[in-house]
Amino acid sequence: MTDIAPDPETARWHYHPEGPVGLNPLFSWPPRPAAVLKWYSGAWLQITSLTLCMVLAIIAYAFFFPALETMQSFAPGWMFRIWLLNMVPQILVAGGLHWWLYMRKGQGMYKKFDRRDLTRNNGTFTFRNQVWDNIWWTLGSAMTVATVYQWIIYWAMANGWAPTITWAEAPVWFVVWMMFIPMWSGLHFYWVHRLEHHPKLYKHVHAVHHRNVNIGPWSGISNHWYENLLYFTTYFIHLIVPSHPLHLLFHSSFQQISPVLSHSGFEKLKAGETEAARAGDFFHQLHHRYFECNYGTSEIPFDKWFGTYHDGSAEATTRTRAYKKQMYT
Ligand SMILES: [Zn+2]
Ligand SMILES: [Zn+2]
Repeated sequence: MTDIAPDPETARWHYHPEGPVGLNPLFSWPPRPAAVLKWYSGAWLQITSLTLCMVLAIIAYAFFFPALETMQSFAPGWMFRIWLLNMVPQILVAGGLHWWLYMRKGQGMYKKFDRRDLTRNNGTFTFRNQVWDNIWWTLGSAMTVATVYQWIIYWAMANGWAPTITWAEAPVWFVVWMMFIPMWSGLHFYWVHRLEHHPKLYKHVHAVHHRNVNIGPWSGISNHWYENLLYFTTYFIHLIVPSHPLHLLFHSSFQQISPVLSHSGFEKLKAGETEAARAGDFFHQLHHRYFECNYGTSEIPFDKWFGTYHDGSAEATTRTRAYKKQMYT
C-alpha cells in the first residue's frame, strides 16, 4: 500500500516516458550547459526528424531541384517538379512508416503510446476510415497549399524580389539560419496553433486534425484547407530573411516530414534489437489526448511560460481539464 493515489490516466497509455516530458534546457535558469549540449547532440547527431529532413533536403537540392533561373516565370515544368518534391518524400516516409508500424507491425507494440489501433468504420472520418481520411487531407489539402506557397517564394527568389544568398557569399549566415529554422518554425507554430484553438476556428477548421486522438504517421499534417493556409505561412519568412533555396527545402521538409515522425505514435523506431531512431513526441501526443495543452513544441517552452504545459503528470491533466472547461463555457 502507498498513500499516493494511482493515476487512472496512466493506465490508459500502453507506454509513456518516465518523469516529466522534457523541454529544451537552453531556456532554463540557472543555465545548464551540459543539458543543452545533450539536447542538441541528441537532436543533430543521431537519426531524428531533424537529420532525416536535412538529408532529404540535400538530396532534393543536389539531384532534383530545378535551376533558379528557370523559375523566373510560372511554367508547368518546374512547378510540377516542385509538387513532386513535396509529394514523393511525403508518400515514402508516411507510407513507409505506416506500412512498417501499423500494417506489417514490424516492432509490435514496442514503445507505442496508445493501446488502440487506428480507427476504421467510423463516421467521424472522411471515407469513414482514419487512414484514408488522413491521406486525403495530407496529399490533397496540405501538399497543394505547401506547393503553391513554395512556387511563389522560388519565383520571387528567381526574380530577385526576395533576398537570396549563396554559400560562397555568406557561409556563416548559411549555417546559422539553417540551425535557426526549426526554432522559427516552433515559434510560428505555437501562435498559429493557439489561434486555431479559438473555439470558433477549432470547430470549423482545426477539428479535422483533432479527429485523431490516437495518431499515426499520416495524421501529421492531416489538416483542413484553412488550417494549411495558415500553417504554411511559416515559409514566407524567406521573402524577408536572406535565404538560399536549400533553406526553403529544409524548412519545407521539416514542416512536412517531421510531423509524420512526431505523430507516428511510437517513441522509438527499432531496427533488430536496437533503437535506431527517435520518432514520436509524447509532448504532442498529450496535446491530441487532452487538447488544451502543449500547443507548441518542446523546442521553445512557450507552454511553460503561458501556463499550458502538460508534463504527463496527473496534476497536469486535472489542470488542463479545468482550463478546458472555463474555455468552452
Ligand atoms: Zn491542436
Ligand atoms: Zn498534431
